[in-house]
Amino acid sequence: MLIKEFISQTNKNQMISMILKHYGVGSVKLKYKSMRDYAHFDVDRGELQLSTKYKTIKKSQIKEFLITIIHETYHAMDAKKYGWKKFKEMYELEMNYQISQGKDEYKDNKYEIAAEEFGQSNYTKWLQKFKKEGLI
Ligand SMILES: [Zn+2]
Repeated sequence: MLIKEFISQTNKNQMISMILKHYGVGSVKLKYKSMRDYAHFDVDRGELQLSTKYKTIKKSQIKEFLITIIHETYHAMDAKKYGWKKFKEMYELEMNYQISQGKDEYKDNKYEIAAEEFGQSNYTKWLQKFKKEGLI
């Protein structure tokens, strides 16, 4: 039996573009960057930035990887829905609100909570789909 330990770059990029397209944000660009976080959606640039730590991923990282991609896709969907300028304002307002409440600007941020829930509740569906298509 052949065990593929790593997911190929091609398959990984294909999975990302399938997810983005499915949620109507296929125009989002993908960029690898050296950064502390695993991923970030750059509202100004309409760019999904992925850490170079994700250049190659192991099979054991696939769950976390998919949740991350779906989470960031949700931010892209919000940016599309409200317009990026408006969404940026809304997001910053929420950050300031959480800070004023003595809470965490990210962990308690309603947009972050919604994005994480979206990732958590949708990754199994994608996992099954990608397995079926032989991408993972
Ligand atoms: Zn987020």
